[in-house]
Amino acid sequence: MRIDTEKCRGCGLCVPFCPANAITLADRKARIDEDKCLECGTCLRKGVVRCPTGAFYEPPGVYERPRSIRKFLSDPATNHKETGIPGRGTEEVKTNDVTGRVRRGFVGIGLEVGRPALGADLTDIEKLTMSLAKSGLNIHWEEDNPVTHLFKDPATGTLLDECKDQRVVSAIIEFALPVNELRPCLDTIKAASKEISTVFSLFVISRMDEDGNTPLVSELEAWGYDVRPNSKVNLGLGRPLREE
Ligand code: SF4
Ligand code: SF4
Repeated sequence: MRIDTEKCRGCGLCVPFCPANAITLADRKARIDEDKCLECGTCLRKGVVRCPTGAFYEPPGVYERPRSIRKFLSDPATNHKETGIPGRGTEEVKTNDVTGRVRRGFVGIGLEVGRPALGADLTDIEKLTMSLAKSGLNIHWEEDNPVTHLFKDPATGTLLDECKDQRVVSAIIEFALPVNELRPCLDTIKAASKEISTVFSLFVISRMDEDGNTPLVSELEAWGYDVRPNSKVNLGLGRPLREE
């Protein structure tokens, strides 16, 4: 994002809206630190900042690699080119009854890395994906996930070189693995979490049994995790795309 300093009146209205603290005011002009800017688009969004002079603008480079990596992962109004997914991640498994992404015998894992105000370096995301890839577990990266499209090599979890200096509001790492590998997977994530400099939320996605139970909840609690069960059931809203 850029500010046209000719237009800026230095009113300061925009400064507190930036989730990355990238806008500063000096000599009655607002300026954007491009290293800090996550290209989230908040300062330009209609009805949010209401810059009195319309000083914010996006240079074309924002939509070209590598800067576009920030844009498509940080701005929910932008669609990721390869997946068509807007914002930081996917709809995860909220439509699993139709897509069948997580099959019986498997568990889905989502790691939402970063938050507004904290952000996430892609290098931190890579530390997590590399640790998971190195674990020897049977990890199936989710194909429709924007982070998966940034892999240089899914077998090693390395990201494209152009990701190295990029920083985003947040991004979701998404994969599935056999349910009997859940515990070592969580141990791997716990160990890797000590190497990163931001926060993440962990989603464990499992299918309910026929009787409505989710046995993984008690297992996770027995392993010391604070579980907050959350469910979504889209009864009758779609035809399953994949046979069990
Ligand atoms: S809101 Fe607009 S005019 Fe006011 S400081 Fe920010 S860029 Fe400048
Ligand atoms: S695009 Fe987002 S991060 Fe960048 S200056 Fe505007 S509000 Fe801040």
